[in-house]
Amino acid sequence: MATLIKNYIGGEWASVETMEATPVYNPSRGEVIAQVPAGSADEVNQAVAAARAAFPAWAEVPAVERARILFRYKQLLEENFESLARGVTREHGKTIEEARGDVRRGVEVVELACAIPSLLMGQTLANVARGIDGQLERYPLGVCVGITPFNFPAMVPMWMFPIAIACGNTFVLKPSPKVPLTALRLAELATQAGLPGGVLNVVHGGKEAVEALLRHPEVAAISFVGSTPVAKYIYQTGTAQGKRVQAAGGAKNFMIVMPDADLETTTSAIMGSAFGCSGQRCMAGSMAVTVGRVVGPLLEHLDRAAASLRVGPTDSDNSVAMGPLIDPAAKNRVLGYLNSGVEEGASLRTDGRKIVLAEQSNGFFLGPSIFDRVQPGMRLAQDEIFGPVLTVMRTEDLGEALARANQSPYGNGAVIFTRDGGVARRFAREIQCGMVGINVGVPAPMAVFPFAGWNQSFFGDLHVQGSEGIQFYTRNKVILSRWS
Ligand code: NAD
Repeated sequence: MATLIKNYIGGEWASVETMEATPVYNPSRGEVIAQVPAGSADEVNQAVAAARAAFPAWAEVPAVERARILFRYKQLLEENFESLARGVTREHGKTIEEARGDVRRGVEVVELACAIPSLLMGQTLANVARGIDGQLERYPLGVCVGITPFNFPAMVPMWMFPIAIACGNTFVLKPSPKVPLTALRLAELATQAGLPGGVLNVVHGGKEAVEALLRHPEVAAISFVGSTPVAKYIYQTGTAQGKRVQAAGGAKNFMIVMPDADLETTTSAIMGSAFGCSGQRCMAGSMAVTVGRVVGPLLEHLDRAAASLRVGPTDSDNSVAMGPLIDPAAKNRVLGYLNSGVEEGASLRTDGRKIVLAEQSNGFFLGPSIFDRVQPGMRLAQDEIFGPVLTVMRTEDLGEALARANQSPYGNGAVIFTRDGGVARRFAREIQCGMVGINVGVPAPMAVFPFAGWNQSFFGDLHVQGSEGIQFYTRNKVILSRWS
């Protein structure tokens, strides 16, 4: 029986009361590697109490001293980089290269947070009125909460807590029960870096734990990343409770391919975007919209590339290009889309159900699938599939391609492949989403920029990362002084 993992509260391991638990898999093998507790309101209360108790002292620590701890944390993350990446591969199933990217993107947020003394600087205006000076200062909010999805076990938690704690808040992280181990290791390393107990806590659980966090009177702000229905619920419930909320949701990302696109580089970018992390990315380019005559040659290139994609267990073979889905339910959901696409009349050119693995295993595998002739009304065109399925929709011109992309209720990312600057400019201006790529397959912003979803991909006003992250985790005080 795999071990029941603990919460991490007040800088220490905290036993859980319940024996109710769900399995954490190594998806490459289909083996259970840990049990994660179901979580309870009592455990949430303990974590929030620890964070609340730590807040006044932590908020008083000068920003330069908080930065010193973050510099040590960054150093420890580098020293443990490879083992963190291996841990991500083990509990998530993504390839080791993808796992290194997951950790690296998180470390970059820590690097940003190391600049906190500059980032927290306020504003002054001398003599706003005769004899009166005005100044704006930033203050932390208190206890902040992070609720994270399974698909980036390192990066998404690190979108949140490094900036929150750098700003002087304390934090309770509730990671996805599918990938709780990386989050625990990140918290342990933070303690090792000198972070006082209670500043960063990890509590496990699902809906019950989330409900307790959403309604806890001592929680000031909630950062959520996950699927759209849950994001919307968290935003509505959290704000109704008077909390500040940023909630990033799901996505459907369109990739427009113009007739003048370079086919080699475009194919490689589309393959990476559609099948990277087995399609389990909120920035996965899952829909290629072809314009005019490019469709035939592009499909030939894609079929060839998909046929040579090595799929298999990622924990033993570094040359594997695509790993498994996260769990059996995810695999069944994607199989459902493959069946419905065929029933709705799309043309399945590459069938991921017929997969030959690089190494035999009981993992949750599907190969890459490619559908052509997808129509706007099909489920394949509307839903976030979140698996290794690329769909292709044919259009006649850029206007039609833009209209198709802009019909999507989501608004995370979209990309165009072209050699024409005028076309690229029109696309960037007219596409209705927050993260735009021009000849870039996955336009995920670096830490200094906000992760800028629109529409049903984001609920709130201030996104994670960059200056918006700093604004989200602070509130302003404006001071007017008159000294006679
Ligand atoms: P999910 O919504 O199922 O879970 C996210 C978190 O919410 C988890 O911690 C989970 O325990 C909790 N949760 C799940 N159901 C809940 C409920 N009914 N009530 C309260 N809490 C609940 O998402 P997931 O499957 O872990 O992650 C995949 C989704 O996340 C995809 O839709 C993907 O697009 C999205 N995502 C979005 C971004 C972004 O920046 N927009 C980034 C990464 C992932």
